[in-house]
This record gives sequence, structure tokens and C-alpha cells, in this order.
Amino acid sequence: MPMTAPSALPASLAESQGIDFHMHSTASDGALSPDELVALCHRKGVNCMALTDHDTVAGVEAAAKAAAALGIRLLPATELSSQWRGVNIHVVGLLPVGVRGSLASGLEFQARAREARAEDIAARLEKLGLADALTRAREQAGELRPLGRPDFARAMVAAGLVPDIATAFKKHLGSGKPGDVKAHWPYLSEVVEWIVASGGVAVLAHPLRYGMTRRKRGLLLDAFREAGGEAAELVSGFQNPDVTRDLARQLDERGLYGSLGSDFHFPGGPLAPGTMSPIPRTAVAPVWTHPRMVTFAASLD
Ligand code: AMP
Ligand code: MN
Ligand code: MN
Ligand code: MN
Repeated sequence: MPMTAPSALPASLAESQGIDFHMHSTASDGALSPDELVALCHRKGVNCMALTDHDTVAGVEAAAKAAAALGIRLLPATELSSQWRGVNIHVVGLLPVGVRGSLASGLEFQARAREARAEDIAARLEKLGLADALTRAREQAGELRPLGRPDFARAMVAAGLVPDIATAFKKHLGSGKPGDVKAHWPYLSEVVEWIVASGGVAVLAHPLRYGMTRRKRGLLLDAFREAGGEAAELVSGFQNPDVTRDLARQLDERGLYGSLGSDFHFPGGPLAPGTMSPIPRTAVAPVWTHPRMVTFAASLD
């Protein structure tokens, strides 16, 4: 892709090529460093991106530098873990003015919660036969970053307890399994409040990935909106166009803005930065047209 100066962002979600507002780096459970991720975005034609590492903004500074050098717009962001009615819900905070107010202490809270959770997960996996689970997960993570379930999944594979990561999640770490420890996470409403207090926009991440019925998803969207959430991901990676249209109806009914992202973690799979199902024509407004996003949207025009 040619390196051109970024131009105005599109007026509709249906024309959002080159925009990806959900990706991970080595600051959380992604395989690429922030610089490498930004370079890959550049090669894939993504010229407007948000780095959304789990519960941290540690990669944002390096990513911003790399993005500036390549003429890519980078939006500071994070993907916060929370719980609602016993389900682990992810909320993307798009942070056009960075980390402010209660979000700063919120991120510290998340780091401690992740540590305490890792100890609980380790204790549970030790009962399942993974001795020294915390040490092994730490080895998999490689560097001093907060541990996540993928580190435990890799440790289980390395120990020969499961054939692959998918099986580790299916049997031991996925929703409802012993390693799915949610108790440490704050309530959905709290993480939304932190994001709003930081001058950001709270985006419900991948609403179709919680195994909910349409009705339950509607209740989640209602609770999210009531807490101050203002957008949801209309497309996350690959999804069926009929399902997208139906989700668009649920967002439109509630006046929520729409965001989109690949949820890219590592190269080699079907996903790449900027790779996601196309968005049909919809009345849902793009999240970058939200009033609090205007400074970002105009930043490089
Ligand atoms: P955590 O942040 O520790 O709760 O871990 C959640 C992360 O695990 C997600 O963001 C995904 O990157 C990864 N994950 C969740 N489910 C699966 C799965 N079935 N297979 C592989 N990775 C998964
Ligand atoms: Mn992840
Ligand atoms: Mn997520
Ligand atoms: Mn994610």
C-alpha cells in the first residue's frame, strides 16, 4: 500500500476499509511487539488503528511513535475485563485524550486483579495436574507482563496435558471451566465509568462472542448503555452478514454507535490487521463520528 497522508475518516461504517479498532500486541496476549504490529498494519493497508491490549495501555507509547513514522493514525485504547451477571464481558475503551481521572487507578486495579486471578487459575490447574502452574505460565509469557489465560493454555500444551491451545480452552480455561476465574474483575458498570471519566468512548467488545441469546444480548446492551456505554463492535473479525444486520438493528434501537476490529493477536492464522467481514449499509453511526472522538478524527487532517 502506498504511504499517503491520512484523509478524513469515512462517513459510514460500510466504507471503513483501512480502519481497525481492535488489536493486541505483546503488551498483552498478542504475538507482535507494538512496533511490529504497526508495521504489519502499514503493510496491510490499515491507516487508522487502535491498540487494545487487555487491561493495559503499556504498548501505546511505542505504537504511537511507530505509527507517526509511517503516517498511520493511532488511537490510544485498551480492552478492559469485567463481569456482568456471571459472564466475563470485554469493554474497549477508545481514549482520544489518553488515560485520565479514575481510569489511571482502574488500570492499576486491573493489573492487581490479573495477578490475583493468575494465582487462583494456577491453583485450579495444579489440581488438574499442572505442577508449578504459575511458574510455567510465567515462562510462557516470556517477559514481565500480566498473565492471561493463553499463557496457561500454552503451559498446558508444553506440559503435554492437552494437544493444543483450543483444547486447553475447551476443557480447562474456557467459559464455565475451572480455569475461567471471573471473580476478580470489576462490574461492567465500573469499567465503563472509568472510560467515560477518561474522556473516552466505551465500546462493548464482540457482542456476539458471549454465547448469549438475542434477548440476553439486548439486556446486556441495555445495561451497558445505562452505565454510560455508547458504542458496540458491529463487526469483530469474521461473522455472518445476516447476524451483522440483526446486531445493527439492536444497536440502532438503542442509539449506540458502531465500531469494528479484527481482534488480531498473531500472524499465521486467518486474521490479519484490517481483516474482517464487510459491514452492510446501516443506520448505525461510526464511532469516530462521536463528539468525543472529533479531536482524534481531525488530528491528522
Ligand atoms: P484473559 O484475558 O486472561 O481472560 O484471556 C482471554 C483471552 O484468551 C482472549 O482475549 C483470547 O485472546 C484468548 N482466548 C479466549 N478463548 C480462546 C480460545 N477458545 N482459543 C484460543 N484463545 C482464546
Ligand atoms: Mn486476547
Ligand atoms: Mn475480547
Ligand atoms: Mn481482544
